[in-house]
Amino acid sequence: QVFNFSSGPAMLPAEVLRRAEQELRNWQGLGTSVMEISHRSKEFIQVAQEAEKDFRDLLKIPSNYKVLFCHGGARAQFAAIPMNLLGSQTTADYVDGGYWAHSAINEAKKYCTPNVIEAKTTVDGLRAITPMSSWVLSDNAAYVHYCPNETIDGVAINEEPDFGDKVAVADLSSTILSTPLDIQRYGVIYAGAQKNIGPAGLTLVVVREDLLGKAKKELPSILDYQVLSDNESMFNTPPTFAWYLSGLVFKWLKEQGGVAELDKRNQAKADLLYGTIDKSDFYRNEVATANRSRMNVPFLLADSALDKVFLEESFAAGLHALKGHRVVGGMRASIYNAMPLEGVQALTDFMLDFERRHG
Ligand code: PLP
Repeated sequence: QVFNFSSGPAMLPAEVLRRAEQELRNWQGLGTSVMEISHRSKEFIQVAQEAEKDFRDLLKIPSNYKVLFCHGGARAQFAAIPMNLLGSQTTADYVDGGYWAHSAINEAKKYCTPNVIEAKTTVDGLRAITPMSSWVLSDNAAYVHYCPNETIDGVAINEEPDFGDKVAVADLSSTILSTPLDIQRYGVIYAGAQKNIGPAGLTLVVVREDLLGKAKKELPSILDYQVLSDNESMFNTPPTFAWYLSGLVFKWLKEQGGVAELDKRNQAKADLLYGTIDKSDFYRNEVATANRSRMNVPFLLADSALDKVFLEESFAAGLHALKGHRVVGGMRASIYNAMPLEGVQALTDFMLDFERRHG
């Protein structure tokens, strides 16, 4: 059995893939695949609506929030956020906690002058994030943007936002549906689907209704939340297969017991992996305990000369995609919702065995 630790596109639940495979050529007895039918057909509309309902149920999203099924990945939202939310303001607060938050800042600079709050710090030489209470927000910012889980740095901000009447905007690409969320604390959340949801090509945006209708007139319609909302995310042809498959993942999540159950499993997986790293002198993680990501676990070998053989042997053992991002180096295990505990157990068994043979 292969366990795929890719940071994204990432592993999907085996049961979902089995079902999609069974239905691929003859979906709902139509003699065709879901990919080949119109997004305006009653059959697809039902899939789309059910997916939205299940997603809303999973995150307990109240009716004054719109759920948009978008194209363009999270990076499209790096542009859509300022273009939709700035209104007459010329600045927004941007918390820089790592690679992706920084990328959002670079994009926002095209549309405004962001007030950048540097949140990266170190604690005992380990990567960390300053506490939310120390972030100095500006009075005239249209919103506060931050990224609670930095997929590459393996750094997480575990506090939920409490910015008073400021609009919180969060890039949840690598944590969505992995833990309960109090959506009312946010104005907008968004996430590329390809980690915790489904295939690449779909991005979920949840936006509070009162934030619609402020878009700059030069904003391309396809990024305009009001237009997307008015057209129920079918202003143009949506990524139908990704939408359908994400719907199957939402059903799977519900069958597993929902986000609260996944939260427990994710904690158990992270405890097992970090526990193995911490007990050994052969492996190390360079993130302060309070800011460790439960989804993306970067780790280094004591001797980087062994990286290549670690990757070759782990791949041969069915443990795929463990190479770390070039910015951080070493290894990275992404352990999203679809990764079972057995996968993390197989990884830690392999790590201990590798250490015995090479340590
Ligand atoms: N934000 C985060 C936290 C990510 O992890 C990624 C991709 O890995 C992105 C944004 C960019 O996403 P996309 O490739 O969907 O544009």
